Amino acid sequence: MTRASVRITGPNPLGDPMPSTMRKPFNDVEKAAVEAAMERARSGLTGRIGPDPALHSQDAELRWVEAVLRHRLSLLSLGRPVAIRTRDDHTHPLVADGRHFPAVALSIPFADRTLDFLATYDDRRRLTFDVVGPCDLCGEPVPTEEINRLEDLGDFLLQTRDALGGSPRFRTSPAHAATCPARGN
Ligand SMILES: [Zn+2]
Repeated sequence: MTRASVRITGPNPLGDPMPSTMRKPFNDVEKAAVEAAMERARSGLTGRIGPDPALHSQDAELRWVEAVLRHRLSLLSLGRPVAIRTRDDHTHPLVADGRHFPAVALSIPFADRTLDFLATYDDRRRLTFDVVGPCDLCGEPVPTEEINRLEDLGDFLLQTRDALGGSPRFRTSPAHAATCPARGN
């Protein structure tokens, strides 16, 4: 299977690639993400977001992961609270081939849909976020695109897939059905 054949569908798929004809209305997060993505596409520049918040020993790790996602997506700059649900994900390991620590699942509920994220450590031991969507081949919820910036989220919403390129964890996800051909090849 080629990466181009990986398509994200959901309860409210954006049917059209052009922003002028996109499903409406966007909420504040979506609007900010799309604007950031279009600005990056126009200027070729990405805004600076600064270092991730530190993990302090007294913090619960789930709260820290949530704080990092808020930071990466610049949610604090929206000027209004954005709810995020955070829990352990017992399907995916926190590190590739790991066994002992579960990944972290995060959901941002919107009025008409929920965006689901998976937080894991990549092979450089950097906390990384993937948006989770149904696999095209087996329908199971798998990490589909790496989303570590507001601009990435905008590209995802605009379905500008070339700018994203797919999550490295798509093929390795244990969430695929056992017989899914997308898995591990
Ligand atoms: Zn699959």
